[in-house]
Amino acid sequence: MKLESKAVHFADRKRGNGCVPSTTPIHTATTYVYDSMDALDRIFGGEEEGQSYGRYDNPTRNALAELVNELESGAGAIACSSGMSALHLGILAALLDRPKRVVAANALYGATTNLLMSVFGPMGVETTFADVCDISAFEAAVTETKPGAVIMETVSNPLLRVAALDKIAEICKRAGAPLIVDNTFATPMLVRPLELGASIVVHSATKYMAGHGDVLGGVIIADEENIPAIRALSRTIGPTMSPFDSYLTMRGIKTMPLRVERQCTNACKVASWLSEHPRVERVYFTGDPKHPDASTIARLFPKNLQGAMLAFDLKGAGKTEVFRFMEALKMIVPATSLGDVHTMVLYPAMASHREISAKMRHRLGIGDGLIRMSIGIEAVEDIIADLEQALG
Ligand SMILES: *Cc1c(COP(=O)(O)O)cnc(C)c1O
Repeated sequence: MKLESKAVHFADRKRGNGCVPSTTPIHTATTYVYDSMDALDRIFGGEEEGQSYGRYDNPTRNALAELVNELESGAGAIACSSGMSALHLGILAALLDRPKRVVAANALYGATTNLLMSVFGPMGVETTFADVCDISAFEAAVTETKPGAVIMETVSNPLLRVAALDKIAEICKRAGAPLIVDNTFATPMLVRPLELGASIVVHSATKYMAGHGDVLGGVIIADEENIPAIRALSRTIGPTMSPFDSYLTMRGIKTMPLRVERQCTNACKVASWLSEHPRVERVYFTGDPKHPDASTIARLFPKNLQGAMLAFDLKGAGKTEVFRFMEALKMIVPATSLGDVHTMVLYPAMASHREISAKMRHRLGIGDGLIRMSIGIEAVEDIIADLEQALG
């Protein structure tokens, strides 16, 4: 089955007592009873699959995890209460019996950098940041540091750089360090990191998977070697997703392939329209043939799906001009998230990269006129018309 069909069918219609619901229901029970105590004993002992207690298993949550695991070609998955809880679980599990050192891409999602520096740092985990788009520099960092885990994102935020994930995975294999990939921006539609040699994949399901701006969630998917530690830790700590949110996310995923296809097509058109606009200095888009990582993108992404995130520099603009533009938008939503059905804009200098000094932001290439867009499923004419009137 192709991904589009799996997204609609996989993990649904579990056989219960007699009738079979055509889609997975919301199971709210925290405990389960069996005909015999022996049966419950076998389930507690892990000899038999089944439900015993909500922190361990929940049929709705498990169905979602099974579905995402299938889409990402994993050996197992856990649905978590947020993308950050999935990242926390993944890093913790990877480092349990490995050196307490991490090599991380230098342009990670802000909260992920914060997790490494403010949570794992004080607990004795040393993080080295390196440029993931400079393969030899990154390899040197991994070889010198001998880390217990390596962390990167498929597509960086907000400048949308794409590192050679397959080559990084080889470097990690040689160094014996599991590669953790945050695949939120790409979705399994564009890239499936486990197929390219990564060990652990994490998603903020809040974004493209749930896709409607009404769920906070995360998913962690891992290979054969790493899933047992993740599962054991999850059972102990309980960072899991609620049955309601699991249901909404599973419902969202059924249309994810359709949405992402439309969003990628729309993004292509918006990016080329923006690049012609006199008030736009520069457009950052993974579908741009002049993108600095174009050859990597051509190797890793499908031809017709080049991403639905873009960013652009408003010519000579600072906070005042950017705010004026964002306030002038009538349909496009000036909101913090991404991947939803509606188009959204964000001002990195104020939101995602607020905690970073202006000097550091500029060194990262994030100017005061940079605006990030997550393209939605609306008619592309309406997205462009709204941009046109707001740009004035
Ligand atoms: C949103 C996001 C996260 C964090 O996910 P939450 O669901 O907000 O906890 C992590 N990584 C990336 C790339 C994200 O966009």
